[in-house]
Amino acid sequence: MTDAGIRTLLIEDNPIHARLIQRLLDEVEGQHFQVQTVDRLDLGLQHLRQNVVDIVLLDLVLPDSEELATYFRVRAEATDLPIVILTGLDDINLAARAVEAGAQDFMVKSKLNAMSLGRSIHYAMEMTRAQRGEWDSPMFRLAQQQFLKASQLMKLDDNLRQRLLYPQRTLIVSFPFRRDEQDQVETVFGYRVQHVLSMGPTKGGIRYHPEVNLGETAALAMWMTWKCALVQLPFGGAKGGVRFDPTDFSRGELQRLTRRYTSEIIGMIGPDKDIPAPDMGTDAQVMSWVMDTYSQQVGHTVPAVVTGKPVVLGGSEGRNEATGRGLVYVVEAAARKIDMDLSSATAVVQGFGNVGSNAARIFHDSGVTVTGVSDVHGGLHNARGLDIPAVVDYVQRHRTTEGYPEADPVSNEELLQLPCDILAPCAMQNQITARNADRLRCRMLAEGANGPTTLEADEILHDRGVYQLPDILANAGGVTVSYFEWVQDTQNYTWSLQQINERLQQIVTGAYERTARRAETQHLDMRTAALIEGIERVVEAKLARGLFP
Ligand code: NAD
Repeated sequence: MTDAGIRTLLIEDNPIHARLIQRLLDEVEGQHFQVQTVDRLDLGLQHLRQNVVDIVLLDLVLPDSEELATYFRVRAEATDLPIVILTGLDDINLAARAVEAGAQDFMVKSKLNAMSLGRSIHYAMEMTRAQRGEWDSPMFRLAQQQFLKASQLMKLDDNLRQRLLYPQRTLIVSFPFRRDEQDQVETVFGYRVQHVLSMGPTKGGIRYHPEVNLGETAALAMWMTWKCALVQLPFGGAKGGVRFDPTDFSRGELQRLTRRYTSEIIGMIGPDKDIPAPDMGTDAQVMSWVMDTYSQQVGHTVPAVVTGKPVVLGGSEGRNEATGRGLVYVVEAAARKIDMDLSSATAVVQGFGNVGSNAARIFHDSGVTVTGVSDVHGGLHNARGLDIPAVVDYVQRHRTTEGYPEADPVSNEELLQLPCDILAPCAMQNQITARNADRLRCRMLAEGANGPTTLEADEILHDRGVYQLPDILANAGGVTVSYFEWVQDTQNYTWSLQQINERLQQIVTGAYERTARRAETQHLDMRTAALIEGIERVVEAKLARGLFP
């Protein structure tokens, strides 16, 4: 699929049916199709050999091929593509046999409408992805590569290396929820992954995003394990997510989806088992619904089942801004180390959600000049410094940074290449790659997002002398204050904002110092040093517990 739409190959010899389907595809709401129509099988097979296709819509009875042979010939050419059979009422048995043989769905042409066709295509693509692509995510490959590199350098015992390479528990659920139009029921895929159960309960956010899959969730869970161990919290790593785009969902829809997802994973979570928190696309409101659904099921209020809740429900002071604040504390500790004067320093922040907007605001409050910020729609640049409180206010009113008047618009790609002292990617994974790493013009890279930098880019940045604060260190403030929230909930006791911030600073600064010391003494880059700090602690705990039975 590209921004231009879903690349659809329609193999249909009846011109009236072909025109009908093209018209219906044009009418499908929320999806755009780039359709190539052919009226013979040999032309279809040729198109598949020469072009990238996302889905095939296939009539089984064609001038040059008939019945199941048509399906098998297409399948041989497109082994892992979703195929939806288009059939007449007379040929339903044949279409059902094609589905039995591996096609994802069949649709009766005389009963088609735009909604049913759009949904059939959507689910065929979802099913194919669920069947084949779950583990195969660039993020999981990155998390495994980073772990393998660190474990080789620390000469990790092979039994433990194999044990830690995959998560201990994974759950994939598919579940329905009702859209606001009462007759529409959507089915989506959700995940919960627990990487290591040896350290205490597991802990990790819930992500709502259209790209979520098992591999991405597993990568994030693995990073949570190293992160919790690096900052010495009594948790193993976990992560969850649902694959959908929350941006065009109403509050009611989000609530129904969240409650159903919670009840699907309810056996896995609990205040002593696994404690979710917010991540991309989720917030304090989503956590309130998770907490309420869990509490309804067990019959009493259980605030400690999630963190990142509103304060009134047992949330912690300072949790909302904790990831951004922790990032700034780590930057301050690093600046002291590399003699960077923050009062004359500039920062550029990619992403203006929970992590990015708070990091930008706290940089601004502490005297750092923030010259660039961005969100998914693009970036803003003002070499003299952005008035961050005014940008925050603008985003609250317009829900985007786009159009803010006191700055020049830049693309996200250009934003990453702006000259600055501190670059803080706080949006998505896979932003700094071999393609752009040599064009970055920052002295320090502070990773608010998880997995923003690829392994090749790490090497380029290291060679260029960019001082890196890796994700598991730079964004550990979030889980640290989540830990404080969980402790307060389990003790029925609250701490003040000042206590929270002081303890946060102490913990993340301590983690920075241990990492920097290891990097220096063992001649490692900062990411590998941070990973080894975390992995060593997990390995020590695993060995102390021994093997059951
Ligand atoms: P969020 O949903 O609140 O905000 C994400 C921001 O990124 C939004 O401004 C969005 O517009 C922007 N964005 C999305 N796609 C983009 C793209 N392709 N290019 C540029 N900008 C884009 O999410 P968040 O909670 O701030 O999380 C951001 C990152 O930080 C994620 O990688 C997440 O895993 C990580 N993280 C979050 C927390 C936390 O406490 N929320 C803790 C640790 C790490």
